[in-house]
Amino acid sequence: MANDTSYHSCPNPSISAFENALQQFDDAAKILNLTPNQIVVIKEPRRMLEVKLPVRMDDGRIEVFRGYRIQHNIARGPAKGGVRFHPNVDLDEVKALAFWMTFKCAVVNLPFGGGKGGVVCDPSKLSSGELERVARRYFAEMIDVFGPDKDVPAPDVGTNSEVMGWFMDTYAMHKREYVPSVVTGKPVELGGSEGRTEATAQGIVHCIGEVAQHLGMDCAGSTAAIQGFGNVGFYTAKILHKQGCRVVAISDVSGAYENPKGIDIPAAMNYAREHKTLDGLERTDLAEKMKDPMELLELEVDILVPAALENQITSKNASRVRARMIAEGANGPITPKADKILNEKNIFVIPDILCNAGGVTVSYLEWVQNRAGYYWDNTRIQEELSRIMKNAFKNILMTSEQYGISLRIAAYVVGIQRVTRASEMRGLYA
Ligand code: NAD
Repeated sequence: MANDTSYHSCPNPSISAFENALQQFDDAAKILNLTPNQIVVIKEPRRMLEVKLPVRMDDGRIEVFRGYRIQHNIARGPAKGGVRFHPNVDLDEVKALAFWMTFKCAVVNLPFGGGKGGVVCDPSKLSSGELERVARRYFAEMIDVFGPDKDVPAPDVGTNSEVMGWFMDTYAMHKREYVPSVVTGKPVELGGSEGRTEATAQGIVHCIGEVAQHLGMDCAGSTAAIQGFGNVGFYTAKILHKQGCRVVAISDVSGAYENPKGIDIPAAMNYAREHKTLDGLERTDLAEKMKDPMELLELEVDILVPAALENQITSKNASRVRARMIAEGANGPITPKADKILNEKNIFVIPDILCNAGGVTVSYLEWVQNRAGYYWDNTRIQEELSRIMKNAFKNILMTSEQYGISLRIAAYVVGIQRVTRASEMRGLYA
């Protein structure tokens, strides 16, 4: 969850994330020669709900928050996707995030469709009580939308396991029964899975390891820069550091911090935990503050991990990116125009719908455990996660080589094929 005291506004508010997502879809649909009938069924979101959430604030005022839930596609299973609490949440962004979830779940072959939700709010400015009331009101308004076989949310930017616990409890109070599988990313004490907190980061590192092997690179001794120090960025930094990688720059909403000799990541993590932000890290001997935080993306490193928000690498800065590989921890951090520039520069991009699928993969394992009422230890979780991520990576790499296309388009080719096949086999109900 975001630990910040404030949020920057979106750096590129004029870029539509959903338009970008559709562009990626179109590029892959051309390769597959999809028919108009096939396209029209799976391209646009199937259900969109907008709600207004009246919430009593600590000072007695009633504030009305706007919330969304979108189910992009449910051909392969219940909608699956996180809920984002952020001031810049809007319909366009949630549509894009739901779209990406459909194809992400298909890429790693999980029996889920794609969904996403969000509430326009700044969690860093809410008290714990206010946050809980926003979360519970959101879930209560959506009570008929969510369900273990209908739509299963999870954490995203600005939400965490505590919020998932409130979601689950709200559902249980309405249904008068214990239904842990209605939401994933819960605390372990409430039926959450071992390994879920670090799962997205662990999946990213599995992908990085596969690419390193493919490129004949050694992760130990390589350099990395990581944008975002929340759930995804924080644990990616931790795991890469543990594997002997030199993390030379990290950032959060307060700015970017650099140390060419390598940042002592455990110490930076302690700092972030204690201060709830990286703000002031330059006053320690861990790192210097960079003048412009966006310069982190332009550092000459082996591995660049954008792990904050979408539209960070655009046609404006892509030509200045000097990383050898980019692992998309965030959803949609690279625009299609930037993608082309990076391709021309031979920068190896691991696309979001593959790279950050470790989170939803362990969410799936959590859902399975909840339904079975039988819980696995972390060793089993790590084995399953590693197997699923590595198989998906190999399949996408093979597809990209087979068609001579980027890994991103290859991931869409695989995902779209699976969703189209399921849609056609189900047929049209009426
Ligand atoms: P989070 O709220 O835990 O962390 C977000 C981080 O980004 C914070 O450190 C925040 O300070 C930082 N940030 C925000 N704006 C920034 C800016 N302009 N520059 C630099 N840093 C900035 O969120 P998260 O769960 O880590 O999610 C990050 C990204 O990963 C999102 O795109 C999300 O959709 C994606 N993702 C998350 C998961 C998951 O399991 N949490 C899974 C898949 C994908």
